[in-house]
Amino acid sequence: MSEQLHLAPPPIWQSLEAVESSARACRDCQLCQSRTNVVFSAGNAKAKLMIIAEAPGRNEDEAGVPFVGRAGKLFDKILEAGRIDREKEIYLCNVVKCRPPNNRPPAKAEIQACRKYLEAQLELVRPALILVAGATAVEAILDVKDPISRIRGTWFDCQFGAKVMPVFHPTYLLRNDSKEIGSPKWLMWQDIQEVRKQLDLLN
Ligand code: SF4
Repeated sequence: MSEQLHLAPPPIWQSLEAVESSARACRDCQLCQSRTNVVFSAGNAKAKLMIIAEAPGRNEDEAGVPFVGRAGKLFDKILEAGRIDREKEIYLCNVVKCRPPNNRPPAKAEIQACRKYLEAQLELVRPALILVAGATAVEAILDVKDPISRIRGTWFDCQFGAKVMPVFHPTYLLRNDSKEIGSPKWLMWQDIQEVRKQLDLLN
């Protein structure tokens, strides 16, 4: 399949289960050809916090679950540092639900084809807070292209009625191992404390 798309008007889904079922059968972009599994979501659909990353990587594609593998383990440590319960307090998903070959960034046409599922997830989960991890997720939700290093840690308003904070993607943190003050990891630790504070205020 080429970049050819089948952009029918998005259906009105009544439940996340119905959205997931549609995504699992989806062949609306070329990523369906190389995927092992559709990676739809993890966590609690009633959570106040949604975390949105770019796309499944190899481990996620094999497991059918977002945020696993080395980056997922680091992500778990970050959550632990913020005393955030991965199973109860977060709903996790990606901008595109199928793995791009060789972990390349998803193409604009693929993001557009998959957007109906992300929008349905936002509509049905209705999070109060959203973390967008990495540049693709930032652009998809906030429509800004500023470097994450400049805008991370800042809360933005978005069209979905939630407060949105850009954060570094865990794979970026794996490549930048320093924990010195001012390093990406150190900044991420500060950001997660701020998220905990906001969750506490909501509770
Ligand atoms: S990435 Fe999204 S639009 Fe493309 S085939 Fe997978 S579920 Fe469908």
